[in-house]
Amino acid sequence: MSSNAQAPVSHFIRNIVEADRASGKHRAITTRFPPEPNGYLHIGHAKSICLNFGLALEYGGKCNLRFDDTNPEKESEEYARSIQEDVRWLGFQWEGPVRWASDYFDALHGFAVELINKGLAYVDDLTPEQMREYRGTLTEPGKNSPNRDRPSAENLDLFARMKNGEFPDGSLVLRAKIDMASPNINLRDPALYRIRRAQHIRTGDRWCIYPMYDYTHCISDALEHITHSLCTLEFEDHRPLYDWVLDNITIPCHPQQIEFSRLELRYTLTSKRKLLQLVTEKHVSGWDDPRMPTITGMRRRGYTPEGIREFARRIGISKSGNVVELAVLEACIRDDLEARAPRVMAVVKPLKVVIRNFVAGETGSREAGFHPERPEFGNRLVPFAKEIWIEADDFAEHPPAGWQRLSPGGEVRLRYSYVMRCDESVKDAAGNIVELLCSIDRDTLGKNPAGRKVKGVIHWLPAEHALAAEIRLYDRLFTVPEPDADKERSFLEFINPGSLTVMQGWVEACVKDAAPETRYQFERLGYFCTDRRDHRPGRRLVFNRTVTLKDSWAKERGEGDV
Ligand code: ATP
Ligand code: MG
Repeated sequence: MSSNAQAPVSHFIRNIVEADRASGKHRAITTRFPPEPNGYLHIGHAKSICLNFGLALEYGGKCNLRFDDTNPEKESEEYARSIQEDVRWLGFQWEGPVRWASDYFDALHGFAVELINKGLAYVDDLTPEQMREYRGTLTEPGKNSPNRDRPSAENLDLFARMKNGEFPDGSLVLRAKIDMASPNINLRDPALYRIRRAQHIRTGDRWCIYPMYDYTHCISDALEHITHSLCTLEFEDHRPLYDWVLDNITIPCHPQQIEFSRLELRYTLTSKRKLLQLVTEKHVSGWDDPRMPTITGMRRRGYTPEGIREFARRIGISKSGNVVELAVLEACIRDDLEARAPRVMAVVKPLKVVIRNFVAGETGSREAGFHPERPEFGNRLVPFAKEIWIEADDFAEHPPAGWQRLSPGGEVRLRYSYVMRCDESVKDAAGNIVELLCSIDRDTLGKNPAGRKVKGVIHWLPAEHALAAEIRLYDRLFTVPEPDADKERSFLEFINPGSLTVMQGWVEACVKDAAPETRYQFERLGYFCTDRRDHRPGRRLVFNRTVTLKDSWAKERGEGDV
């Protein structure tokens, strides 16, 4: 890891928290992470999770997990379950029980009645078209609804009847009475409640009116005594409404809403709606497809919670745009895996090599450590054999200048083993190389050859000991940095057709019983992780490439050779 890893990074929200503690405004802080259970969490949510839970941890405070479940049609138990699992997997634990905005439906209803009684909310029956017309535009003020001055008693009666199911869906709304001429459209008498007959995952069909997000959120925060309500910048213009609601109801707590910029990660998407589309239209295998920027997808791919948390730390928190290269995330994962992943050998694109001068019993094997800097990881034997696999790409019949791997007549070092010379290549009828005939220099096991230098080192596996494995190579999911930036073309047009390549390769025998989600470095190839879903220890070995060893795009981006 880089030397400054884990050191807290200063940012404006942290400064606010520290100032509030210093001034005595708050002794302890309480934050919350408030997802809507309408999809799986993604890397953008990870940023928000690390911020909210991270601040609470650092300042000895609390962080709640609260589901914002006010849109029954789009929400499900599956999503709610996955979100809890993902937050825990990232390494965080919320304070007390999981909370739900629906826990507060009765309280929210009570506050709505309070607003009606104070003449600050009214029932309206304008059609959606009329609503739009009355709302005005960014440049023109709106105009008052003819129902705006309906007497409180009548509003109370209508609201009670809305709740009792006397009106069809969408026919009436309860609106806050604020200011139809406000330059902020959010304050032009926003809806507080709507009629919607839908089965709710928690309250079933108990309610047919549901509170709107803006109304629900601030009250839920206040009921939970949240001190700092952190949200993304698109809510900045909603803050006056957040404050208006809390200022006009009888509630002893008024959290401070603070906005920060959303994370946008290049070559991927952070829109739940579009991620859902990828899943439902089967462009990916599911929410946990290792190409997905979802937490569950990244987990399946082999990303570590520590690596993702380090990413959140490195990208920081601010109010300015937060567009981040995918390479930054990959570097965090790589840095973390470098220290923790044992090294083994695997061959992804096998080419058979027959060792002509192999003599059973005489040709030796060597031990190799699992990690160059961590002897406590232990050693294993790397047995030699008559037939070995090497990477097809490590042989070139007509090598380019500077080639340091195998070529006809040339020599390479087999990692942890002998120096080997290629004597001959065997071709099939179509002219493809199917096998190499090679010989080893017996005097090079663990020592340099006499009188010459052999620069190249390649990985390999003894055929009789190697285990067959499915190896899934992943690349970025989209071919362009901003797949949803094009107004004319759908993001689906930019899906990278080469984002998944499935190889039938070979791995070292020592990984045979690896449990699902075990991580390795395959030497020279990258970091890999046994698949959570399909890998069966001892029976079916399936590895996902988590990340390559080096930033293979640096070249493409013009950052020099790698
Ligand atoms: P929706 O459009 O469904 O509301 P959302 O991405 O805002 O999508 P939520 O479930 O409401 O999803 O998000 C939970 C929390 O995560 C919110 O506080 C939200 O601001 C934060 N969040 C969501 N996306 C990002 C992102 N890309 N970067 C940082 N924070 C995010
Ligand atoms: Mg949201």
